[in-house]
Amino acid sequence: MDAARVGAKVMVKTRAFELLRKNGVPCGVSAMRMGEPLQIEAPLIIGADGVESKVGRWAGIDTALKPKDIHCCAQFLVQDSTIDDEYCEFFFGNKMAPGGYIWAFPKGDKLANVGIGVQGSKSGSGVPVRLLKEFMKSHFPNGKVVEMVVGGDPSSGVIESATADGIMLVGDAAHQTDPITGGGILNAMKAGIIAGEVAVKAISNGNLSKAGLKEYEDRWRADMGKHIARSFEYKEFFVKLTDNDLNQLIGSLKNEDISKMDLRGMLRVLFKLNPKLLWELRHLVV
Ligand SMILES: Cc1cc2nc3c(=O)[nH]c(=O)nc-3n(C[C@H](O)[C@H](O)[C@H](O)COP(=O)(O)OP(=O)(O)OC[C@H]3O[C@@H](n4cnc5c(N)ncnc54)[C@H](O)[C@@H]3O)c2cc1C
Repeated sequence: MDAARVGAKVMVKTRAFELLRKNGVPCGVSAMRMGEPLQIEAPLIIGADGVESKVGRWAGIDTALKPKDIHCCAQFLVQDSTIDDEYCEFFFGNKMAPGGYIWAFPKGDKLANVGIGVQGSKSGSGVPVRLLKEFMKSHFPNGKVVEMVVGGDPSSGVIESATADGIMLVGDAAHQTDPITGGGILNAMKAGIIAGEVAVKAISNGNLSKAGLKEYEDRWRADMGKHIARSFEYKEFFVKLTDNDLNQLIGSLKNEDISKMDLRGMLRVLFKLNPKLLWELRHLVV
C-alpha cells in the first residue's frame, strides 16, 4: 500500500514467465496479465517471487531446495472459544509434526492461526493437512476453520548468491527465512528495504552488474546472514531428536520463567540444563 501511495505502479493478476534480455543482460520480464501477454521493461529486477524463485533460476541462481531443506506447511485460521488470546502455543513430536512443529498463534477475538510445518524429506502428498486435521480433532474439537493456506517454507540456511547482473532476490526467493522457526516475514521486509536502497544507488550510478549490487549482498548478510546460518545448524540438530529427547528438553524448563525468553535465550537456558544432550551445539551457545 505504501509503495502505491508514493507512486509505484502495481499490477495484480500479472505473472512473469521469463526474463527479457538486452545484450545478455536482464532488462525486464515477459508476463501474462489476465490472459494478455505483456512486456515490462526495467533496468533492475527485484525477484520477490517466493520459495524456489523462478526469477532467480532464470538469472542462473540456484534457488532449488533439497527436500530436507524445505518445510511443507498448512495453516488454518480457526475460531474457537477455547483459544487463549494471550499465548502462542507450540507442539512438537515426530508423529505429530515430523521434523517440524505445530503452532497456534492467537490473533485476538478467539481467532488463531493454527498451522503445521513438516520437513519435506519426512512429508508426502497431503501429509501436513492430514496431520493438522488430526491435531484439530484432539486440541480444538469444536474449532471452526474459516480459512486455509498451504505452502513451502525454505529452511536451508544462507543462499550462495542472491544477486546476478541486473537481479536481486529478496525474502523466500533468497532463502532468508529462519530455518528453525520458519519465520520469514520480518527478514523479507528487511531485505526488501535494503534492496530498495541499493537499487536507487545502483540505478543512479549506472552500475547494475552483480559487482555493482554487492552492497545488497553485504548488507543483508551482515544483518541476518549469521543468524540464519546459526539457526540452520540448530535445525539440523533438532530434527534428529527423538520424542524422549524433546520431552527431556521441554521438561527441563518446568521451573524456568519462559514468558520473557526469546528463542536464543531459551536455547541458552536449555543448554545449561541439558549439556550432555545438547553438547553438539556448544559452539553456538557460548
Ligand atoms: C502456512 C505458512 C505460515 C507461515 N507463517 C508465518 C508466520 O507466522 N510468521 C512468519 O514470519 N513467517 C511465516 N511464514 C513464512 C512467510 O510466509 C514467508 O517467509 C514470507 O511470506 C516470505 O515473503 P516473500 O514476499 O519472500 O514471499 P511470498 O510471501 O511467498 O510472496 C511471493 C509472491 O510472489 C508471487 N509470484 C510468484 N511467482 C511469480 C511470478 N512468476 N510472477 C509474478 N508473481 C509471482 C506469489 O504469487 C506471491 O504473491 C509462513 C509460511 C507458510 C507457508
